[in-house]
Amino acid sequence: MEKEYGEGVYRLQQGDFGANARLRLELEHDLRKALEREEFELYYQPQYDIQRNELMGAEALIRWHHPKHGMVSPAQFIPLAEETGLIVPIGEWVLRTACRQNKQWQRAGFLHLSISVNLSLRQFQKHNLIGDIKRILKETELESKFLELEITESMAMDNVERVIRKLNELKDLGIRISMDDFGTGYSSLQYLRRLPLHKLKIDQSFIRDINHDADSAAIVSTIIAMANHLRLEVVAEGVETAQDLQFLLLQDCRHAQGYHFSKPLPAMEFERLLNEGGELLSPFYVQP
Ligand code: C2E
Ligand code: MG
Ligand code: MG
Ligand code: MG
Repeated sequence: MEKEYGEGVYRLQQGDFGANARLRLELEHDLRKALEREEFELYYQPQYDIQRNELMGAEALIRWHHPKHGMVSPAQFIPLAEETGLIVPIGEWVLRTACRQNKQWQRAGFLHLSISVNLSLRQFQKHNLIGDIKRILKETELESKFLELEITESMAMDNVERVIRKLNELKDLGIRISMDDFGTGYSSLQYLRRLPLHKLKIDQSFIRDINHDADSAAIVSTIIAMANHLRLEVVAEGVETAQDLQFLLLQDCRHAQGYHFSKPLPAMEFERLLNEGGELLSPFYVQP
């Protein structure tokens, strides 16, 4: 974390944020201005089809360049934005920027990239979420099948019938839905089965341990097998080493993202990767 966000963030995380009311107030105040001051940026983390050795798309991850504290982690300001309601305009900015960027890459000839956007609870609960998304797709001229939305188990636990209805509306629009941080929530398989999902993203806490903890390895293989049986796509998050990748390839996992391939990148750098062909060049790649 320190490495990716630089010193400023490290300093913020040293102090207990919960107890540091003044810092919290300061950030909240600054967060209100951050949109108009254009302090946000989207980074894009490549997602690969590891079985075919292909770049599939990217997850859009927000970054806040704070004028005083440097880069502030979304793990820190997204909860604050959520509590204050600021997440609604910020989330809309993220959606619009990600869709516009993907359209731009399509215009440059990269026709099949999907862009994946994290939704927050408030955004997901917003009654006209569907209308907002339709408008943004229209405005940016991005086809809905190139947009993917990430929700979490806790977001989906709220009001079962309403959640299912909402997800179905999104699905009918042609948008793909993935369950982020899968395995860390409390939802039952019975419930999950009812949700119209396209994809499970296995949480990085399980992937981190697959090569030194037999239980994590067993959990990961089981999730992959289950997803394959249910015809759900599966993405391993937080793949950091060649050994992780080898394990996943052998378990028939189709998709992965993580530092082993690339950190989240500014748009320009992601574009450079596209122009270079985006190959993985892994020594452990097994020809299917
Ligand atoms: P997430 O959606 O689960 O995103 C994955 C996080 O793992 C990202 O952290 C990414 O940089 C990090 N990561 C990727 N590969 C690796 C790896 O190999 N090792 C390790 N240790 N970490 C890896 P990031 O960008 O700091 O985002 C943290 C969380 O903040 C995200 O978790 C997501 O829940 C939230 N977030 C980020 N951007 C947005 C946004 O635009 N909107 C909303 N609502 N939430 C966002
Ligand atoms: Mg995510
Ligand atoms: Mg995740
Ligand atoms: Mg998350």
